[in-house]
Amino acid sequence: MDKKKLIGVDLGGTTIKFAILTTKGDIQQRWSVDTNILDEGSHIIPDIIDSINHHLDLFEMSADQFAGIGMGSPGTVDRKAGTVIGAFNLNWKTLQQAKREIEKGTGIAFAIDNDANVAALGERWKGAGENDANVAFVTLGTGVGGGIIADGHLLHGVAGSAGEIGHITIDPNGYLCNCGKKGCLETVASATGVVRVARDMAEEYAGTSSLKQKLDDGEEISSKIVFDLAKANDPLALMVVDKVSRYLGLALGNVANTLNPSYIVIGGGVSAAGKFLLDRVQKYFNLYTFPQVRDTSVLKLAELGNEAGVIGAASLASQFVK
Ligand SMILES: [Zn+2]
Repeated sequence: MDKKKLIGVDLGGTTIKFAILTTKGDIQQRWSVDTNILDEGSHIIPDIIDSINHHLDLFEMSADQFAGIGMGSPGTVDRKAGTVIGAFNLNWKTLQQAKREIEKGTGIAFAIDNDANVAALGERWKGAGENDANVAFVTLGTGVGGGIIADGHLLHGVAGSAGEIGHITIDPNGYLCNCGKKGCLETVASATGVVRVARDMAEEYAGTSSLKQKLDDGEEISSKIVFDLAKANDPLALMVVDKVSRYLGLALGNVANTLNPSYIVIGGGVSAAGKFLLDRVQKYFNLYTFPQVRDTSVLKLAELGNEAGVIGAASLASQFVK
């Protein structure tokens, strides 16, 4: 029985989360540090190395007890080279030699993938994906990310862009997306997207609604406020949630029509709306999927929350377990 452990690193724009896990994916230790993005993010990789070495000392562990380190990162990841470029929320403008530096600094083998793929691996392994071979994952946060595991393999595509569910076109005449294209799912189903839909619908809405009142009064609105008002039967908020749910049902329905996964897992901050959101997305998902897919691909809410990243990252390091 191999006793080697795994380290998972979830690199984000405000915090870096770490965990030590068993090869079965059970978390034994966890900690986090603030992300220092100053000086073009040049402190980030040294900070990761120092934090790992410091905590191994603290836990009286040594590098040879670990099979590997896995990390999820924003930006464009080159998995083979172990590099990252263009992670703007980290201030990384130039190529970062993550694998070379971290292996040298810790003496532990290192693997990397992008953050949405890593979260998908985490939910698949220890969360709502039930370790199934066919799982699609979408995260509704500041943006909309995705990751797809098909026939047991995480899909990357020719340029590493497979599973970008956020850029599925749901309205050819829709809002302009950060990617340069129009009508992406991200423009309506991210946290800012939900608020954008609410603002637009409020302009044309003539009835009484506390959501409309708040928008007209210039109050700060979040997607959580929209969902909370909808749950309290605010008529405009209900219309907004219905519209967002229809877009999600359309996009996820087409993911299912293409891949027929066992589970489509919905995570991220917006998914905190829970069953209220899921039931509405399901209604449209049923409308936009054909019978065999409708009967076999199951929509579910994510189960791991913040831990999906470190767990999925650690699973990348499973490849080093001998
Ligand atoms: Zn886009």
